Amino acid sequence: MSLELSRKAAAVKPSSTLAITAKAKELRAQGKDVVGFGAGEPDFNTPENICDAAIQAIHDGFTKYTPASGTNELKEAVSKKFKSFNGLDYAPDQIVISNGGKHSLTNIFTALINPGDEVIIPAPFWLSYPEIVKLAGGVPVIVKTTKEQSYKLQAEDLKKAITDKTKAVVLNTPNNPTGMLYTEQELRAIADVVVESDIYVVADEMYENLVYGDQKHISIASFGKEIYDRTITCSGLAKSYAMTGWRIGYTGSSKEIAKMMSSVQSHQTSNPNSIAQKAAVEALNGPQDSVATMHAEFDKRRQYMYKRICEMPHVSTIEPMGAFYVFVDVSDVLGKDYKGQKIEDTSKMAEILIEEYNVAVVPCADFGFADHIRLSYAISLEQIEKGLDRIETFLKELK
Ligand code: PMP
Repeated sequence: MSLELSRKAAAVKPSSTLAITAKAKELRAQGKDVVGFGAGEPDFNTPENICDAAIQAIHDGFTKYTPASGTNELKEAVSKKFKSFNGLDYAPDQIVISNGGKHSLTNIFTALINPGDEVIIPAPFWLSYPEIVKLAGGVPVIVKTTKEQSYKLQAEDLKKAITDKTKAVVLNTPNNPTGMLYTEQELRAIADVVVESDIYVVADEMYENLVYGDQKHISIASFGKEIYDRTITCSGLAKSYAMTGWRIGYTGSSKEIAKMMSSVQSHQTSNPNSIAQKAAVEALNGPQDSVATMHAEFDKRRQYMYKRICEMPHVSTIEPMGAFYVFVDVSDVLGKDYKGQKIEDTSKMAEILIEEYNVAVVPCADFGFADHIRLSYAISLEQIEKGLDRIETFLKELK
């Protein structure tokens, strides 16, 4: 065939994190004892009360179409959670329920972007942002942060990156892949630039429940009307409630944007799964003790992993305070020799680790940081210990 396929679709890179998980699965199927640090999802089962609500929904015949942007019952539950947890007033008609956070982000960029509009994305970033922006016809503008800045966007760098084509900036706290949190002061400085420059903020708060120590999650939209009007807050059930497969995400925005996103969704996918919506209501309104149990377990793993990595040669990291990732600086590994092979980049490092040590890690070139890797602690402490032992052995072999 000589007919050209969509240039927009052809420009999209496949998700490299999913590829790594697939490779680890393949090796496991061959009987190899693989430790996978690639996981982007909690290893816990969805709490039982949530599963029971879904089963009940099936028995009750709640298996038909719902309103395209979600049931009023779930929007009410999300609205309540926005108020109590985030300090945000979003009425049900400002809320759109979608098929996961990724879908919510797709709706957001579809609603905001005209061809050629720029979206500022601080690096390191979750690898889907630039691809979703491109699919919506926008131009991702990457603003690199530094380790000294704890990989966080500085207000003055945001200001410098804004042009007359800038439509929005993406702000992800707690952050994937760095595990960093923005402080109130940092967020207020960014909010000032956003308001002054009259652009939007896409606030991805997917990991809002996974914050450790005495740190607190802060929503940028909570600072007052001017920033609230310019923010679309996005979150979901996947990470907080171990519900990745259920596919429920949601947004809080102005009524106008919510209406647009809901119209788009009504033609593209219709409602998110009716049963998953019932489960999500139970997740948000029901008892929260299983969330606390998962949180405590993540925290234990986080502390162990941070301590171990700090003790290893050739690598360093900043203590992560949110999500379930450790972002590891491996710049000192690059250029070194492993048994006669030069490690020229993190892909090579990941290749040696998976092939010779049966450990899967995520090289972060696709996250906009080529000399770092991401390790997830959404696996058991026992696995973490085994995997870190192997990484340490590898590092000690380097010349
Ligand atoms: N935002 C971030 C920062 C994420 O890490 C993810 C999932 N990896 C999402 C959004 C999307 O989550 P969901 O599974 O709900 O689509």
